[in-house]
Amino acid sequence: MVVLDTEFFRRWMSATAAAVDREAGRLTELDSAIGDADHGSNLQRGFAAVAAALDEEPPGTPGAVLALAGRQLISTVGGASGPLYGTLLRRTGKALGDGGEVTPEQLAGALRAGVDAVAQLGGAKAGDKTMLDALIPAVGALGQSLSFGAARAAADEGALATVPLRAHKGRASYLGDRSIGHQDPGATSSALLIGALADTVGS
Ligand code: ADP
Ligand code: MG
Ligand code: MG
Repeated sequence: MVVLDTEFFRRWMSATAAAVDREAGRLTELDSAIGDADHGSNLQRGFAAVAAALDEEPPGTPGAVLALAGRQLISTVGGASGPLYGTLLRRTGKALGDGGEVTPEQLAGALRAGVDAVAQLGGAKAGDKTMLDALIPAVGALGQSLSFGAARAAADEGALATVPLRAHKGRASYLGDRSIGHQDPGATSSALLIGALADTVGS
């Protein structure tokens, strides 16, 4: 049986930081089309702070890793995505409780709680052209199959499927119909977060 320990969660966060570094240019380019061209640099700053904080005072449980990561994102990322990703990780961490190891099933349930909290905080729903359009399918696929590869595929597909949507939340919504035809930056970075999770499981 697969169990995910504290070190696994630290590796997930550093894999996310590496993916965000690698894709920062693309995230900012997507945000320049329908936002204010800062999504890549916002998340680079945020996940660099997450990686530094995890090195400085390594937390002792999976839940504490995600809680610390969430707090760092909230305090270092100015912009809509900081509080939203911060809430995702804090709420997911809280739902994991204080055990030293979690099963994929427990992580699937905790991520579901985290995604629900993002929806509650931001008031967005599926189809509003936000990060939720990658996160909702990803947690759905994970809950159903307990396959991290399936979650990654669902997140990638969800991010791509934001292209024809009209934005109803965030800066992109100010553009109305002109937001149509562009991939949402936050859905794209959410697919990186889920992809990093699948990579960490596979590695
Ligand atoms: P800002 O728009 O403040 O500059 P970012 O560029 O870092 O912040 O993040 C933009 C992304 O945040 C969007 O692409 C979208 O996915 C996400 N987002 C914005 N508002 C919401 C919301 N209310 N609910 C969920 N996600 C949102
Ligand atoms: Mg922006
Ligand atoms: Mg901004």
